[in-house]
Amino acid sequence: MKKWVILFVLIVLLGAGGSHYLKESVGDALRIEDGKALETFSRKDGIAIHVTEEQIYEGNLLLVNREHPVHQQGVKSDVVNLSQHEELMQGYGLLDNTIRLSESVAQKFLTMVDAANQDGVNHFLISSGYRDEMEQEQLYQEMGADVALPAGYSEHNLGLSLDIGSSEGQMGQAPEGKWLKENAWKYGFILRYPEDKTAITGIEYEPWHFRYVGLPHSMIMLEKGFALEEYLNYLKEKRYISATIDGEEYEIAYYPVVIRTSIHVPANRDYEISGNNMDGVIVTVNP
Ligand SMILES: [Zn+2]
Repeated sequence: MKKWVILFVLIVLLGAGGSHYLKESVGDALRIEDGKALETFSRKDGIAIHVTEEQIYEGNLLLVNREHPVHQQGVKSDVVNLSQHEELMQGYGLLDNTIRLSESVAQKFLTMVDAANQDGVNHFLISSGYRDEMEQEQLYQEMGADVALPAGYSEHNLGLSLDIGSSEGQMGQAPEGKWLKENAWKYGFILRYPEDKTAITGIEYEPWHFRYVGLPHSMIMLEKGFALEEYLNYLKEKRYISATIDGEEYEIAYYPVVIRTSIHVPANRDYEISGNNMDGVIVTVNP
């Protein structure tokens, strides 16, 4: 419920002051601390839980690229065919009726498109969502290594990414692309392959490819100008950060995981655990 309140507050703020004000207020709200996770969570009646190596490979913060393939447990379990879910398909079109996506991600997308529609931006078209390994392999064979990633190395194989187009033209120029570039982070999405990060992502600028990571991660990445690779390294280095949006505090802690590891989480607050697909898990404590 609280996430909706935050979104509402963000939307009101945006309406009141424009995106520049919002970005400034987000920047002012960011507070960074190092290495205090255990202490912080235990001070707030933290409890110890066990995480296993398997958990490194599942969740919304997985890094998938040429070095880090998808593990089976990372594939979202709620992938649905969008054309068969009318309730998920308001305010945008599909390139064809085979397009699939994680249902929870589709719901976030729907909320985002709804906000865009209210701004008069309403020509969104999903051209690709979840792809299974066979489809990825076929694409790789057709498009080649310069354009496509091999099967199992694409974020599309997770169900967390989608390619968004506009019936108004190329996403780099279309109002839909511009709107998303500015606003997608509020709904937990990131532009995964930005123009200025090709050396880090190893992928050419893709103004159409969006990835769900969730709040507050999308906010911090935008504020700090981080690609996902950089953000995950940053969390690893800091171990613990907190981010406050309008007085609502999120806490984020990274834990390396070896076989079975004991970590601390707060006993009385809502939290999520995601692996980084490399060597550890990230605990996100919600307000
Ligand atoms: Zn894509």
